[in-house]
Amino acid sequence: MYCFIIQNVVRSNSIKTKKWIGGHVPYVIDKTLSTNKSFLAEVKAAMDAIQSSTSNCIHFFPKNSTNTDYINITTADSGCYSSIGRIGGVQLVNIGDGCDTKGIIIHELLHALGFWHEQSRTDRDNFVDIKYAHMILGTQSEFDIRPDTKDIVNAVRYDFHSILHYKYNQFAKVSSWDTIVPNAEYNCNTNPRNANCVYKTALGQRIGLSRLDIERIQWLYECKAARHDCQNPSIDSMSVIPSKAYYAPGSVIDYKCDYSILVGPKYSTCLPGKKWSGALTRCLQGNFFQDVYYCDFAECVRHWYLPVNYTGVSWKKAWNVTLGYGPDVDHTYQTNNGHVKVARQNGTI
Ligand SMILES: [Zn+2]
Repeated sequence: MYCFIIQNVVRSNSIKTKKWIGGHVPYVIDKTLSTNKSFLAEVKAAMDAIQSSTSNCIHFFPKNSTNTDYINITTADSGCYSSIGRIGGVQLVNIGDGCDTKGIIIHELLHALGFWHEQSRTDRDNFVDIKYAHMILGTQSEFDIRPDTKDIVNAVRYDFHSILHYKYNQFAKVSSWDTIVPNAEYNCNTNPRNANCVYKTALGQRIGLSRLDIERIQWLYECKAARHDCQNPSIDSMSVIPSKAYYAPGSVIDYKCDYSILVGPKYSTCLPGKKWSGALTRCLQGNFFQDVYYCDFAECVRHWYLPVNYTGVSWKKAWNVTLGYGPDVDHTYQTNNGHVKVARQNGTI
């Protein structure tokens, strides 16, 4: 079942202007579904999922007489649709035939909270290829990039597994024609060594909130858990990292050494719980290294039998390291696996 979005008349340049104040979302259940118990149970489960997974960052509650802005959950129309964010007054969240599952209702409620489809982000072309020629005529605008998503791009990384993502053949003229395909770097068919690779069939899940879906809600609504989550990591002085004091979950920073060799991951992601992903990164002093390889610890040991002291990424000797042998890309990029950069030394320590 696909989902259309109601275009808001008033446009803004940031989704932040369309938030529900304090994360409080009054609702009414339209009489069209108030007698359908199984449907009501799915609506309740969808609201509970959003509330509990965000530690009550969002609070859905029955509208009272003082609430002028609210959502009306209805089955009056066919299809599934919602506005983006709070528009003022009553706004419909329509969950017609085929939309009556918890996952699809979560999807529609996220629209009402202020989120566009994931592939509408301003950075989406870095992650997916949109094939307009394969689409049913007239549906192309459903794949428009939305400029007001630019804020979220800096806060939460692109998520193929988002409940807001379209599936690979959404609005396809012919069901075997893909309309949205992960780019080569992230596609398991072309880059299986990327630990974060996805198959196209992973797109468009409507099971539940992904980890990054939860983080995007916490980010937009500035809930405690998501704010100021990771402190700027400290590494050796001969390195360049961004100077911001705090990073939101999902932020990716990139390490670079002014001179000398980078040891450890080239990138880290801020995870919930104030931790950066991956191993400690540092810059090794000296200019006597000949060859540098990237591998995770297990792979280094298995292939190279390195007598490595991994504590704090330090080691003394590297035997049997052969040029051109072993992995040459960081396939553990953006994962929680350990990363080791191995350098063959020309000389003695
Ligand atoms: Zn949608």
